[in-house]
Amino acid sequence: LYLPEIFKGMAITFSHIFKKVPTVSYPEQTRPFAKVFRGLHVLNRDEEGREKCTACGLCALACPAEAITMEAAERVRGEENLYREERYAAKYEINMLRCIFCGLCEEACPKDAIYLSETFAPANYQRKGFIYGKEDLLIPNPLTQPEEYEKAKGERAPATQ
Ligand code: SF4
Repeated sequence: LYLPEIFKGMAITFSHIFKKVPTVSYPEQTRPFAKVFRGLHVLNRDEEGREKCTACGLCALACPAEAITMEAAERVRGEENLYREERYAAKYEINMLRCIFCGLCEEACPKDAIYLSETFAPANYQRKGFIYGKEDLLIPNPLTQPEEYEKAKGERAPATQ
């Protein structure tokens, strides 16, 4: 009695075997990103490896999700090679659980210090794993870590480029 239904089911299965597969074997294969895709944030450095962020707070103000927290500090003598301007972000955190990847922080930044890359935020079992600090966001230093910098730049190129 069930045989006709079984054959019907098998016929549907076989009919799909030679059809073009609409899915990809992620993570081995990925689809190209849309031009407007926005992924993880990157804190940028200048060509001399200095942090561009001056902790003006405009990104945090622009953020509709209140995902950004920062603490500003004054640059002291001898730190000119670390920070481009007199003030810098001693602490910079983004809560990826709050972030809606709207890109308003990137738009608000007058110093080209932050951009959203083409990298996904990886899954995590812990809430605290979604709080990205400066050490997670800052691109490697092009002078002291040239290979890492090039790799990160390639992986995390701004979506607009
Ligand atoms: Fe906030 Fe949008 Fe930037 Fe996420 S992408 S930190 S929501 S401004």
